[in-house]
Amino acid sequence: MIKIGSHVSISGGLIEAAKEAFSYNANTFMVYTGAPQNTKRLPIEDMKIEEGKKYMKEHKISDIVVHAPYIINLASYKENIYELAVSFLKSEIKRTEAFGSNYIVLHPGAFTDKDVKYGINRIAEGLNKVLNEDTKPYICLETMAGKGSEIGRTFDEIAEIIEKVEMSNKIGVCFDTCHTHDSGYDIINNFESVMDNFNKVLGLDRLKVFHINGSLNKCGAKKDRHANIGADENNPRGRDMIGFKALYNIVHSEYAKGKIFILETPWIDKNTNLYKEEIKMLRGIKNE
Ligand code: FE
Ligand code: FE
Ligand code: ZN
Repeated sequence: MIKIGSHVSISGGLIEAAKEAFSYNANTFMVYTGAPQNTKRLPIEDMKIEEGKKYMKEHKISDIVVHAPYIINLASYKENIYELAVSFLKSEIKRTEAFGSNYIVLHPGAFTDKDVKYGINRIAEGLNKVLNEDTKPYICLETMAGKGSEIGRTFDEIAEIIEKVEMSNKIGVCFDTCHTHDSGYDIINNFESVMDNFNKVLGLDRLKVFHINGSLNKCGAKKDRHANIGADENNPRGRDMIGFKALYNIVHSEYAKGKIFILETPWIDKNTNLYKEEIKMLRGIKNE
């Protein structure tokens, strides 16, 4: 049984997150530990963790993933932003451990007014401040679309960060299908060679999580706009340029065996999402 789920809300604590995941027939899920755009967080005691874990066990949900908020920027040259990123990441590791999760997905960072090299060094330096022997979860650096000054748009950039991290055994990678496609990897026609390259540069062992998303744009567009899986032009959120077939083949490929798949596809409106259908499509179950 493949491990697949979606991003779910943590606003009702871990218990509500797990219930939401179960309602999509998911057997895993991903949460931000609070709003993704700020660093305000509930105390761990108020996150209904024990109830959540019990529910997860009863409903066979496991291998959950935490996503660090995207305002965290370890590549920033601004001291206050950098210090916040380091201290917040430390506290995020505590929350991730409390959730019983082994994976924190992190956007490596953006170099803004500096350059890639500066950013890569800064990120590695920050990770060295955060990681120690007792760190349990893997910090999974996400492959990025290459918008603006984002670092991590190539496997090589991620490898350069990892080379500079002392406790690099704690670093994993999150492969986002929308982002790799947008940054220029041809995952539609050449997924095998993309993964051979990934294996050469990073090693398949580093790969822990896939974000399975469609993309509204063409390969190499560097936009980062997610689409619903295989959506056609009738979908109000737009057409998926990657397509169902390519995404299905990725999920069921040799390279993805045993990995965790998380959907971050758009909601149709504020009350409607397609997670349940998308999970079913990607599993390949014809009848429930
Ligand atoms: Fe992300
Ligand atoms: Fe992602
Ligand atoms: Zn994205």
